[in-house]
Amino acid sequence: MKSLFDKFGFNLSEKQFADFENYYNLLNFYNAKFNITAITEKKEVYLKHFVDSLLGAKFIDGCFLDVGAGGGFPSLPIKILKPKLNAVLLEATGKKCEFLKEVVKELKLDNVEIICGRAEEKAHDKFFREKFDCATARAVAALPILSEYCLPFVKVGGKFVAYKGDAEEEINSAKSAVKILGGKFETAEKFDLDGNTRTVVVISKEKSTDNAYPRANAKIRKKPL
Ligand code: SAM
Repeated sequence: MKSLFDKFGFNLSEKQFADFENYYNLLNFYNAKFNITAITEKKEVYLKHFVDSLLGAKFIDGCFLDVGAGGGFPSLPIKILKPKLNAVLLEATGKKCEFLKEVVKELKLDNVEIICGRAEEKAHDKFFREKFDCATARAVAALPILSEYCLPFVKVGGKFVAYKGDAEEEINSAKSAVKILGGKFETAEKFDLDGNTRTVVVISKEKSTDNAYPRANAKIRKKPL
């Protein structure tokens, strides 16, 4: 499995690779109980969860928030690769939060906090609003909706890094949302993950987000910005 990381330019130490092995074993062991992922075959987990999560790592620094972290993607692989970062994982489902706490404990990861809650509510909490150098998310919602979940958490001068598939249409449809929320498209880097196109979209935060955002979830979904 180590060669998979090498192939994508991630040269891991033995300790980092051991952490991924341990993480895989925990996913495997707890998946039935916590209902974390449909991807279970070892090579698929390494490629589609672990390596995929690392594709955007170079854009992520400081204290970062993973919105809708699920089983810990992309944040925990990034934390294994870049142990000095501070990670906060926000997840709406209690069972997944329990799993995340288990992984953090077993892998002895420091400076990782698990918050059980919804993005559109936590983003109005003064302890979280515009407090992060970076917010990231993978497989949570389409970019106009995701921008409303994520950009309010980011400090002015920080960034929002979204993990997407083929993202051209989504980027076009999110232009007005990103502007309203105080963001600006910086770059979209494409990767070929063994035949699947993956895009890491980077949006910088130029202006503070109006307190009206994020709206209640029903409104966000019914009428995306
Ligand atoms: N990011 C992980 C990944 O890439 O494997 C999980 C993806 S899963 C399809 C989407 C996750 O986002 C679910 O665990 C769900 O509970 C969480 N989620 C969806 N909307 C959310 C919200 N508004 N606030 C917090 N978590 C949310």
